[in-house]
Amino acid sequence: MKDLIIIGAGPAGLTAGIYAKRYNLDFLVIGQTPGGTAIEAWQIENYPGFKSIAGLDLMQKFQEQLGQKIIQENIEKITKDFLVYTDKNQYQGKTLILAMGSKNRKLGLENEEKFLGRGISYCVTCDGPLFKDKIVAVVGGGNAALTGALELADIAKKVYLIHRRDEFRADPIWQEKIKQNKKIEIIFNTRVVQVKGDKILEKIILDSSRELEVSGLFIEIGTTPSSGLAQDLAITLENDFIVVDKNQATNIPGVFAAGDITNNPLKQIISACGQGAVASFSAFQYVYAKHKN
Ligand SMILES: Cc1cc2nc3c(=O)[nH]c(=O)nc-3n(C[C@H](O)[C@H](O)[C@H](O)COP(=O)(O)OP(=O)(O)OC[C@H]3O[C@@H](n4cnc5c(N)ncnc54)[C@H](O)[C@@H]3O)c2cc1C
Repeated sequence: MKDLIIIGAGPAGLTAGIYAKRYNLDFLVIGQTPGGTAIEAWQIENYPGFKSIAGLDLMQKFQEQLGQKIIQENIEKITKDFLVYTDKNQYQGKTLILAMGSKNRKLGLENEEKFLGRGISYCVTCDGPLFKDKIVAVVGGGNAALTGALELADIAKKVYLIHRRDEFRADPIWQEKIKQNKKIEIIFNTRVVQVKGDKILEKIILDSSRELEVSGLFIEIGTTPSSGLAQDLAITLENDFIVVDKNQATNIPGVFAAGDITNNPLKQIISACGQGAVASFSAFQYVYAKHKN
């Protein structure tokens, strides 16, 4: 049995691992996507120590610092005695840190799934380069949508930025850059209502009845927490986010949580890291208090 199983290999899980190593805990990090959603960030300009760094590069540095293999398996079930079942194996820990982050929110359009990977994407950094000199659209009004549109403007011929409200909620710095970019056309107060094409996406239809011929549609409308596994453990949730105290403890003794999956309002790399460190410290104290005396 391991001292600690960290579930999730994003900023929160990787930082928890870096700290667990310092506490000399016998631990595992299990995560389907090493680096987590942070690898989707085009340029990160708010992580101290780096004026600007690609998400993929920053997360590579985290993994190097962890210096331990991440178990790239999909966790399907966790039991009340902390048995963790993946698609390939089973593991058991004395404590758990849940750091499963969140998943991309969908528009819910008919054919959205059909065109996934055939024009529709939820990750500009991953798929943007496929649209060199093409016309694309981005849906959303937050930081991910605006930075995504800016990234695409460097690649594509033209970028439509479609937002259902009359103003963006993204940081002012990104709004300013968007306004100055001549390749980006902003369309406020509008929703995408249909996606059309034969085998690949060819056009989108807006609720204003306007039709836009685009090769790519990037949906950047936020995320929902991946807290399904927490329900098996009867962990208290608030709007699907895991409720934690200042020690990152959940209502279940021995289970801690960190990062975007928690009810902490700031969903950023720096806060995920801070919470991962605290969760690891709490897990260390729990293991020593309960098992090592
Ligand atoms: C496009 C974009 C740009 C961003 N830009 C910035 C930025 O500039 N600055 C900033 O601070 N933040 C930025 N963010 C936000 C930042 O990426 C997140 O706040 C951060 O990644 C949260 O870290 P996390 O560890 O909590 O979760 P995540 O990074 O989401 O990691 C979750 C981990 O859990 C794993 N996982 C989930 N479910 C399972 C399962 N069932 N089995 C196994 N593994 C599982 C995943 O594979 C992943 O490894 C951006 C996000 C996006 C999408």
